[in-house]
Amino acid sequence: MILPIPPYPSPALRERSREVRDDEFGPELEKLAADMVDTMYHADGVGLAAPQIGRNIRVIVYDISPERNQPHAMVNPRILEADGVQASEEGCLSVPELRGKVRRPARVVVEGRSIGNEPVRLEARGLAAKMFQHEVDHLDGMLFCDRLSAAKRLTVRKHLKKLEDTAGKGGNDSQPK
Ligand SMILES: [Zn+2]
Repeated sequence: MILPIPPYPSPALRERSREVRDDEFGPELEKLAADMVDTMYHADGVGLAAPQIGRNIRVIVYDISPERNQPHAMVNPRILEADGVQASEEGCLSVPELRGKVRRPARVVVEGRSIGNEPVRLEARGLAAKMFQHEVDHLDGMLFCDRLSAAKRLTVRKHLKKLEDTAGKGGNDSQPK
């Protein structure tokens, strides 16, 4: 099932998401992850974090395969190691029409749980390392545009203001002018 991705300033995007408890693993969590995978493919993203669909729990899904046929979910992901540097263009399904170059570590080691509550630990480089950091940032209430250079900050502020104004207008349509 494809879920809506309410864009910034959706309040869930700025919250710190909570960990999934052991007793929450099961069919309901599996369904959520499956729906998030459908939503990610539909939106043509390489990753999606639960806050992007309005849920403040620490769940991410991703697929960085060129064939787009290897979906994965990770629950309670944590970045254990980060080193090296890469700078590459990023965008976000939650911040439409904004892109910019972000500097991040080039290699990370990530640990978490599978959707079946098995321990997972993996090393990621390049695009995969970027994706994990971008998605874990979402779980901490952070957006990629918070990490853009000082030179780009005014553009970012203007863009976010525009999204806030658009959201505000939508909400006030029934109000008298
Ligand atoms: Zn994003």
